[in-house]
Amino acid sequence: MAELRGSFGEAPKHLLTRWFGTPDLHRLEVYESKAGGYKALRTALLEMAPADLTNEVKTSGLRGRGGAGFATGTKWSFINRDAPGPKYVVVNADESEPGTSKDRYILENSPHLVVEGILIAAYAVGANQAWVYIRGEYDEPHRMLTEAIEEARAKGYIGPKPMGKDFPLDIRLYRGHGAYICGEETALLESLEGKRAQPRSRPPFPAVKGAWGRPTLLNNVETLATVPWIINNGGAAYAKFGTDKSPGTRLMSVSGNVRKPGVYEVELGQTFRHVIMELAGGPPDGRKVKVFWPGGSSAPVLPESMLDTHTDMEALAAARSMGGSGGVIVMDDTHCVVRAAYRLLRFYAFESCGKCTPCRVGGDWAVRTYQRILANQGSQIELDTLLRVSDGLQNGRCLCGLGDSAGWVIDSTIRHFREEYEDHALRHECNVGATPPALRTTSPQVGRSAHA
Ligand code: SF4
Repeated sequence: MAELRGSFGEAPKHLLTRWFGTPDLHRLEVYESKAGGYKALRTALLEMAPADLTNEVKTSGLRGRGGAGFATGTKWSFINRDAPGPKYVVVNADESEPGTSKDRYILENSPHLVVEGILIAAYAVGANQAWVYIRGEYDEPHRMLTEAIEEARAKGYIGPKPMGKDFPLDIRLYRGHGAYICGEETALLESLEGKRAQPRSRPPFPAVKGAWGRPTLLNNVETLATVPWIINNGGAAYAKFGTDKSPGTRLMSVSGNVRKPGVYEVELGQTFRHVIMELAGGPPDGRKVKVFWPGGSSAPVLPESMLDTHTDMEALAAARSMGGSGGVIVMDDTHCVVRAAYRLLRFYAFESCGKCTPCRVGGDWAVRTYQRILANQGSQIELDTLLRVSDGLQNGRCLCGLGDSAGWVIDSTIRHFREEYEDHALRHECNVGATPPALRTTSPQVGRSAHA
């Protein structure tokens, strides 16, 4: 069991979101005067060596908040700061994971926090240029980040000599075009370079050969927004919160069948029962939680009986799931798991970039199998087929995580709700009481493979 090391107790403190809600926090003047903004950047540029910044982040134990959960300080240390030629920081703000809206929440509340984190990271790894790849549909976050960058530029925090330091820093924005695959870091780089967004084979990793073939640090919005707190308070102070291997807090966007959907800052190691039933108020109208996705739609599902699973990455791995993007999707007992899995499979099949065969073919195959089951044309053959397709999508058989995610939807829903699948496939019934309407047995949307 994860042991909490922080002191949140009855009244949770907030590290990242402490000043959220302050009127006009998105304005530089307010960010500096009310929230102590840009103090960390000043410290970083004028009082700390780049290697010390990286070490401080290493000490904090901060892990990436985009999905993979890789150690942030270690990732920074992979960039050879002294290598000649350009280096880049690329910020993944292409938040497209279903059920996830925490980066948007940060960008709309405190865009300067993100700008400050980017500038510190860029200085630490020796990058003079940062790019923010922002989801194309995020109009408001894009507008607010653009204004924040302009304000920081006007104040001299972005430019040839930020805060008098002889180290030019620049940030530019790039808007995505609506492809889910661009959240995958190497597909994002391809898109940033103006190419078709398909994941690259690795190695080489972006730290060695990233944007335009140059060493590139890729971090998520929330990851970078956490850095100013660490520099202001010290990595050791951050590591006091959370658990041993998953220190600190993270933002969780809770959606679905809950009374109070929203974004919550949660100390890692708290339980999902706390997040779903207490913070988000649980399902409305006396309904019960049936299933939840603990880390966005890509994370394997967990049933109600596992609500006491802890939110740290190790506890989730032990439960055969993952923290992913921090998007907690809750479904109550009035909904059909098979139908939900089908809808997600349609999404993954639609968003497949088509580069590798298991994902390109397997997703479509799974969709058609679900359609047969939901059209009351299923049998044991369909159940076996789903498991075979799921296996073919996982464990390194696909080039990127999208294939695994599609496989996990099938695999985890069958693992926890096998009876419900058998009701549909073998007995042609739905145990939530709804007679499944016959679905079309063709899938007009699958097979799309062109992404910008
Ligand atoms: Fe593209 Fe799917 Fe292969 Fe990822 S797993 S590279 S999305 S085809």
